[in-house]
Amino acid sequence: MVDRVALLRAPNPSAMTLDGTNTWVLASRTGEAICIDPGPAIPAHVERIVAYLREHDLVLRAIALTHGHPDHAPAAPLLAAATGARTYAHRYSAAQHDEMLDDNDELSFGDLRLVVIDAPGHTLEHLVFYERESATLFTGDTILGSGTVVIAPPGGAMRPYQATLRRLLAEFGDARAICCGHGPIVTEARAKIEEYIAHRERREAELLAALAAGTQTIPDLVERIYRDADMRLWAAAARQMLAYLIALEEEHRVRAVRLDRPLTQREHAILNPDWVNVVGAEHAPLVEAELGAQLRLDAIYEYSVL
Ligand SMILES: [Zn+2]
Repeated sequence: MVDRVALLRAPNPSAMTLDGTNTWVLASRTGEAICIDPGPAIPAHVERIVAYLREHDLVLRAIALTHGHPDHAPAAPLLAAATGARTYAHRYSAAQHDEMLDDNDELSFGDLRLVVIDAPGHTLEHLVFYERESATLFTGDTILGSGTVVIAPPGGAMRPYQATLRRLLAEFGDARAICCGHGPIVTEARAKIEEYIAHRERREAELLAALAAGTQTIPDLVERIYRDADMRLWAAAARQMLAYLIALEEEHRVRAVRLDRPLTQREHAILNPDWVNVVGAEHAPLVEAELGAQLRLDAIYEYSVL
């Protein structure tokens, strides 16, 4: 099914990356290759990709980035230097690249035909790729092999994400496999995309039900909805809540009122945690990028349903 698609997993396991970032190498019958998401700048990982290409007599023609996060893109310049391949990314990508990609562009090498899908949500510069010959979808951090995706402002946005999922279902629900940015290959594409759409709707319903019980701040909501979850997840949950609340406020379904007081220590710990303390110095930079920690939440708002 995905015999022309090889998975080389990067050695960067963590809570955010599951077993590590999935690097994909696609080979044409004529010996040309595309690498999707070369991963973090770990020299041993790049050497492994290069060795794989050499063993299989493949010429790497393109490095395609789903998005610019630190666990997906930084190996691109190293792999490009080692192979001479050109790097392709979304036109908004801040990651180093040679060529800009737009929706519906196609990268063709031999019988490889990689269609570009603009897929905003996890980040606003996220791309999903669909390889026509093998009917395989490469989803980066838009759909994972297990668990769910982080949608956190300012990089991520909920309604664009949901629209992306609906588009993937409508246009690529018949894909034979989803090769995700992390986790195992998904063979039931349609069921997985439907599950992702339903999960977001369920979470939003939970949030609205909690607000229906009375006006609440994000830390209140997190403590209520994630009561039984590991407290280390609360800060991530808070950022996801914010993504829902921004959408609901824009739709005039929820009102936000800024409170005229500083954050309490408890609120600060949930909204702006010291990530080095929560996940350790090694993982903090990636967690900060994924969760939009550059957005400091220094004001406290009360939310109510309109
Ligand atoms: Zn990401």
